Formats: sequence, structure tokens, C-alpha cells
Amino acid sequence: MAKQIQAIRGMNDILPTQSPLWQKLEAVLRETVAAYGYSEIRTPIVESTDLFKRSIGEVTDIVEKEMYTFADRNGDYLTLRPEGTASTVRAGNEHGLLYNQEQRLWYMGPMFRHERPQKGRYRQFHQFGVEVYGIASADIDAEVLMMSARLWEKLGISEHVTLELNTLGDPAERALYRDALIAFLEQYKEQLDEDCQRRMYTNPLRVLDTKNPEIQALLADAPELMDYLGEESRAHFSHLCELLDAVGIQYKINPRLVRGLDYYNRTVFEWVTQSLGAQGTVLAGGRYDGLVGQLGGKDTPAVGFAMGLERIVLMLETLGLTEDVPGAVDLYVSAMGDSCRIEAIKVAQELRAIAGLKVMSHCGGGNFKKQMKRADKSGARIAILIGENELANQQVAVKFLREEKEQELVARDALATYIAELI
Ligand code: ATP
Ligand code: MG
Repeated sequence: MAKQIQAIRGMNDILPTQSPLWQKLEAVLRETVAAYGYSEIRTPIVESTDLFKRSIGEVTDIVEKEMYTFADRNGDYLTLRPEGTASTVRAGNEHGLLYNQEQRLWYMGPMFRHERPQKGRYRQFHQFGVEVYGIASADIDAEVLMMSARLWEKLGISEHVTLELNTLGDPAERALYRDALIAFLEQYKEQLDEDCQRRMYTNPLRVLDTKNPEIQALLADAPELMDYLGEESRAHFSHLCELLDAVGIQYKINPRLVRGLDYYNRTVFEWVTQSLGAQGTVLAGGRYDGLVGQLGGKDTPAVGFAMGLERIVLMLETLGLTEDVPGAVDLYVSAMGDSCRIEAIKVAQELRAIAGLKVMSHCGGGNFKKQMKRADKSGARIAILIGENELANQQVAVKFLREEKEQELVARDALATYIAELI
């Protein structure tokens, strides 16, 4: 036998048994963004490598070690997108969507990062994200957080996620803080691990983000960015907190929250869960007023977030919230006897005109037992049976597969109305 080829490590198939839950999640996301008036943007999966180097930052996990980069046949360096913000800004600049305008955008699709695969962390994964351009005030920061809170409500997981919030100030404030932080870290240089020692001068804020518990303990007395903020940054943050309080969204201010990408300023946030173990961040984002300019556009304020769909799917599964996911089929239509097969496919085709009704036709013949086995496996609630007697009397038999209810005979010409009322 020929050797089978396997999928790439960390890149998952979403199988027919799993796709209904994905579709349900995607439907909730689409419904929610629509309720806030956001428009979809779809960008290519492959972009110039430079786009990500310039936006995400050279000294970040993503650019240092996670990107899928290759030279194409022309020798150009291309990268499978590791996130969606850089591409959205690139497209916005390229098509003149950003300058002097407001845009409320969303996207959804696969992202690629060469990380060590584990539960909740994959090499191809899916993100849903929103990006808003042209609004500098904190009310829009509050809006995207309200939208994320609404998502949790609709998915039934509000009880299982908490919001962590911080502000990174503006670049000048951060530069002051950076110097203070480096001075602090220098006292403990020997105790820092290799990663942190390297980052201490190139990107010291990332040291705050370390997962190493011993270094986390050292950082307890580190200076806090909050103390280096100017009047405007402080006002922006306190206005955001005030708005969140007003709409009843609870949050925890976490001064260690710095995020893994370079482009953020002022507001940063993460929604985290205890339900998934180590991979607890389900949605993350913040304000990035400098990025549009950094990528060659005119300065434009911006705020957004990205959510990891695999982690949400895992949460829904872990919490057992998969019950109201619709099955693939509502009705299964069977012909009992070859003479009835034409009538059966006609009936099925007619019923499919009922909006939203999902009807599977039995194909391939076979005896009653085999057909009922297939009907059961299809997940259908009801089987429509057409035998010679029914055909002669212009009727069909309706058999209930999932409830204690007697089989019924229904006149052929009343069937569509009968089914529409039943479903
Ligand atoms: P982490 O700290 O978990 O590595 P991150 O800071 O790299 O996350 P972002 O770049 O902010 O993550 O991406 C936003 C969200 O996308 C994350 O909160 C997470 O839900 C999801 N995500 C990121 N990387 C992966 C991955 N490799 N596999 C699955 N989901 C991911
Ligand atoms: Mg990461």
C-alpha cells in the first residue's frame, strides 16, 4: 500500500463532526459585528515579509522566531500572515480607506506561526478581529470592549472570562519609563534568563511579560508605567474606565500587561480564561495610533483586537456548550421499494424549498433496516417514508426518529405545510 501523507504538524483539519460548532461560532461573530455596523475586509494570506517586520517589530516572538517566511520563484521574501492588523493597515493605506475617514472593520481567517504545538497553540490557527480607524477618543476603545463582552454573552461564556486592562502611554512617556525599567533590571542582570537579558536593552517592556515565575517575582518592585504617564494619557485611560463602569463591564487593571507586539500605545487589554490551562488568553488587543504612519500612511488613530477561534471552540467543548449546535439534517427521505424512488427524490426536492429546512435523500436503495440506519446516522429528527401503498394513495408516512410519537400518514399535497408547521 502507498504510504499516506500526513498533515503538517500543528495544522489541523476541521472535521465534519467539528464544523457545526465552528459554523455556529462564526455565525455569532458575524451577527455581533453586524449589530455594531462593522464591515468585513478580506486580505491575502501571503504578504511581503517587510510588512510584518516593520509593523510587529523586529524584537518580538513573532518576527524573531515564529514567521513562515520563504523566497518565492522571483526571490521575493514572502510571509504567511501571522496576524491580521498589519495586512488591514496595508490594505487601508493602499486603497485610501484611512486618511480623514472613519472605518470600522472586521476580518476572520487562518494565521500562521511556527510555535511549539500544544493544546490551544497551533501553527495554523484562526483569528477573528476588528480594527477601527480614525477615532482617537476612548469611547471607541470602550465600544470594541463592549462588543467583545457581547460576544461572550451570546456564546454563554461570560462567567468564564475576565478582562485585564492596562495603558502603555504614548511613545515619549514609554521612552522615559523604558530608561527607568532598564536601570531597575540592571540591578538583577545576573538573575535574568537568556531571553530577558537579550531583551533588556532591545525591548525591556517585554521582560515584564515573561512567563518565568522567578523573574516575575523579581519584577514585583519594578517601576510602573502608570507613574510615567502624562495628563492626556491618564485622562484617556480614566475615561475608558469610566465608560466600562457605566456599562457594567468589569475589569482588572494589570500593570504587567504589555502585549507581544510593538505597535500598541495607550490602551491594551486581554480577555483571559481559567478554563484552558496555560493558553488562557482568548482575545487581545489595544490602541495603535502610530502604525498607520509607520507603514507609510498619514497618521491615523486606530484600535482593535484579535480573538483566537480554536481557544473559543475548546472552551465551548470543555464547558459542554455544544448542545444547541444544529445538526446537518432535519429530514431524511426514504423510498421503500424501487418503484417509489422517483417520487422520493421529488418529495425531497420540494421540501428543500422550505426556508432553512435541511433534507437528505436516501441514495443507493437497500432494505428498510439499512435505510433507517442511515436515517438515524444522518441526525435527522424525522424520516419521510414512501412505499407502494403511500404512492398509490398519494400519501407519505412521517416517522419520528427522536421522540415518542406515533408514525403519521400525511396527504402528499399537504406535506409541505405539515412539515413547515412541525419544524
Ligand atoms: P500568546 O501569549 O498565547 O502567545 P499572543 O500574544 O501571541 O498570544 P496575539 O498575537 O495577541 O497572541 O493573538 C491574539 C489571540 O490569537 C490570542 O489571544 C490567542 O487567542 C490567539 N492565538 C495566538 N497565537 C495562537 C496560536 N499559535 N494558536 C492558537 N491561537 C493563537
Ligand atoms: Mg504568541
